[in-house]
Amino acid sequence: MTPDTQTATLSQRLSGSGLRPTPQREVVYQVILSKRDHPTAEEVFDRVKARMPGISLATVYNCLDALVQCGLIKQVNFVREPTRYCPNLHEHAHFHDEASGRIHDIEIPAEVMDRLRALLPTGFAATSVDLSFRGAAGDAPDPPDSPA
Ligand SMILES: [Zn+2]
Repeated sequence: MTPDTQTATLSQRLSGSGLRPTPQREVVYQVILSKRDHPTAEEVFDRVKARMPGISLATVYNCLDALVQCGLIKQVNFVREPTRYCPNLHEHAHFHDEASGRIHDIEIPAEVMDRLRALLPTGFAATSVDLSFRGAAGDAPDPPDSPA
């Protein structure tokens, strides 16, 4: 996906959700796409400030909410940790490295997700499935800078 396509997608998605594609929302989205390390809102704020010095933390929170609402990013929650944000919209699990605090995306094959959903009793329909692992990660590479 080229940056142009991403910007078009962002504008389309935001307007599709009844939200204006503001420069602030675009910068917040670009910051999350450019370093896929599951930043917290405070970390996003620090990175956005480098490009848009006048922006406030409250505005960053509002932008994050808007991007979550229109499905461009997902919230990732771990117990006793601030919410983090992930632009990977493919179904995936997270691996939380307890030593470094880093979060790794773990792709889940579709057939595994199908088997997990099949565990639900009749009449139960999951709209989302959250899977996370905690432990020690090996020498995994840094998250890619380019979109998957
Ligand atoms: Zn993720």
